Amino acid sequence: MTKKQKVVIVGAGIVGASIAYNLSKKNQDVTLVDSHSKAGCGVTANSFAWINPSGRVPDNFQHLYSRSLAEYHVLEKEIPELNIDWNGSLTWGNLVNINKPYVEKITRQQVLDLEPHLKEYPKEALYAFKEGAVDPNILTNLLVKKAQENGVNILFDTKVTHIKKEDAKVVGIHILKGFIESDVIVLATGTALPELCKPLNLDVPVEPSPSIIIRMKSPKKLIHTLISNSRFEARQLSDTTIIAAEDYLDDHGENGPEEVGKRAFETLRSDLKEGEHLQLESIKVGMRPMPKDGYPIVGFHDQVKGLYLAVMHSAITLSPVISRLIAKEIVDNVQVEDLESCRISRFYPLND
Ligand SMILES: Cc1cc2nc3c(=O)[nH]c(=O)nc-3n(C[C@H](O)[C@H](O)[C@H](O)COP(=O)(O)OP(=O)(O)OC[C@H]3O[C@@H](n4cnc5c(N)ncnc54)[C@H](O)[C@@H]3O)c2cc1C
Repeated sequence: MTKKQKVVIVGAGIVGASIAYNLSKKNQDVTLVDSHSKAGCGVTANSFAWINPSGRVPDNFQHLYSRSLAEYHVLEKEIPELNIDWNGSLTWGNLVNINKPYVEKITRQQVLDLEPHLKEYPKEALYAFKEGAVDPNILTNLLVKKAQENGVNILFDTKVTHIKKEDAKVVGIHILKGFIESDVIVLATGTALPELCKPLNLDVPVEPSPSIIIRMKSPKKLIHTLISNSRFEARQLSDTTIIAAEDYLDDHGENGPEEVGKRAFETLRSDLKEGEHLQLESIKVGMRPMPKDGYPIVGFHDQVKGLYLAVMHSAITLSPVISRLIAKEIVDNVQVEDLESCRISRFYPLND
């Protein structure tokens, strides 16, 4: 039997929550810490939350994206309350990886059958009929609740001020009201990760990457799948809420987030039948933790013992699959082959 370790996870966004949940099934002494008063208050709160493995991804990360849908089905069996929206995604006018077995070309009539509330229809579209989407807030809080039921100690309103290192090993975290000892520290702090690593003389190449999320009230369900086309990207978060995602263009002026968000709202009002009843609720900018090459940084740091890094964009898609592998690495003290492409060492090539 493997030794019971003291694992401290910093950050209760989708990444930290998923890791806590997976570790909670493995008989470890786990503490999950977050500076907010509940889980999912970082960028996860502003996610479009599309489980989307069909974008173009380099070969060495493809296996992780490819397993994301299956992993969500496993998760759904374990936590039926998750209520994942499996209505698929519908794309036209945008690039999609049509080599996926679950992406099919459909006709105008089929688009109309799926989405009766559009005012105009494309001649054809791509339908990724197995894709899904989640409510990121519900998902993250459910994972934390299940982790807690399985014995994980949850500390909210607890900011980690710095990490204590002795020789070449991290030994615990300093919080405002004290110190928590650890065998392993998992940093799942999103955009705040580089800052926590700086005092340890570790440079983690992650930048905040802004993206816009627009919420609106809808009188009823006007969108049934998830629609991504050249005019908008939107889906129904619930029967009475639509969310739309837009690229961040500028910090002010006519391409500032407020104006981009209002234009997206107006587009939906004009493109959907009964769209005139939509009401704008909020326009927010979420800061995605973006590793320098766009792909996850996951694993024990090779220069500091006991420090595990877990930071990624597309974490809604990737967290379930990656956090299961993370739990294995931490508990069994092994290097899982499937995570090899995610190591931070790819940014620091050895001169041999
Ligand atoms: C508009 C938008 C659309 C998106 N769409 C998608 C999508 O469709 N599909 C997809 O897969 N991904 C999508 N993403 C990306 C996805 O939302 C993120 O990859 C994911 O939410 C990152 O989660 P996280 O847990 O790493 O970060 P966070 O949610 O930010 O969690 C980090 C946590 O760490 C805590 N923390 C930080 N520092 C400290 C400290 N010192 N002490 C204690 N706690 C600390 C914070 O309070 C926070 O709760 C989108 C993002 C945006 C903004």
